[in-house]
This record gives sequence, C-alpha cells and structure tokens, in this order.
Amino acid sequence: MSYDDNNIFAKILRGEMPAHKVFEDNETLAFLDIMPRSKGHILVIPKKPAINMMDIDPDSLCVLIRCVHRLAPLVRKAMGADGFVVQQFNEAAAGQMVFHIHFHIVPRYIGVPLKHAASEMEQDDILSANAELIRQEIGNQLG
Ligand code: 5GP
Repeated sequence: MSYDDNNIFAKILRGEMPAHKVFEDNETLAFLDIMPRSKGHILVIPKKPAINMMDIDPDSLCVLIRCVHRLAPLVRKAMGADGFVVQQFNEAAAGQMVFHIHFHIVPRYIGVPLKHAASEMEQDDILSANAELIRQEIGNQLG
C-alpha cells in the first residue's frame, strides 16, 4: 500500500479539514480525537507523510515519540486525569483506521471505563473546551 494523500489526517495537515489543534511545531501536530475514548483523548502526528511503523524513518519516529513524551503528562494534568494510555496501531488487522501514522494519548480516570475506539462522535463545544484546557497547560509549560 502506498501513502494516500487524501487520508483525513493529510487533509487536516493541509487545512482542508477542521481539527481542534492543541500543539504544533515544524515537524508535529497534535489535535483532539473527534471520537474520543476518554475526555481529552488526543492524536499526535508527524507532518512528514508515513503510513505507520512499517514505513516511517527512525529519525522521524524519534521526533514523534519525543513529542508524545512531552505532551502526555501535560494532557494528563490539563484534564485532571489519573493516568494515560499511549497507543499506536499498524495496519487494519491491528485496528489502524487512518493511514497516516499517529500516536493516541488517552487520559484515564479511576473508575471510568474507556469507550470503544471511534464509537461515538463528541459534541464540538466539548471538544473545544477540552482543547482549550490542554492548550493552556501546554502554553504554561512550553510557551
Ligand atoms: P486508528 O485506529 O487509526 O489508530 O485511529 C484513528 C483515530 O482517528 C480514531 O480514534 C478516530 O476516532 C479518529 N478520527 C477519525 N476521523 C477523524 C477526524 O476526522 N478527525 C479527528 N480529529 N479524529 C478522527
């Protein structure tokens, strides 16, 4: 399979699809998952095209995971979460639905079960409010 320029995340990167962005630098973009498994679920993607772990070059993967490492504790703090899960799926058989590599940062709250992946669209005003909380925390730490 070759990289499809028309996947949803490529469109978000080109500004052709909206997203609740929480962080951006020269190499990386982070935004809220539109069907979050928990409150504050974000996705972290490289700007350089890659489908998944099979084709991303090691240096780009390092840049990406450094960003995940930087953002995950800030998302946890912003959302008042008790922990977080980091997930990354490779190929449809493993649950990959969008074929531009991404890491999920999924906040966890004691006693709150995860929703199933991509099961329920979140209301836009809730996504907006959560994005603002996360942007504020990132701004406080990195800004
Ligand atoms: P995957 O299973 O490929 O790792 O996960 C893809 C994720 O992208 C899912 O959690 C799904 O909810 C999310 N997603 C799908 N379409 C959109 C979209 O248009 N915008 C955003 N922000 N997230 C999306």
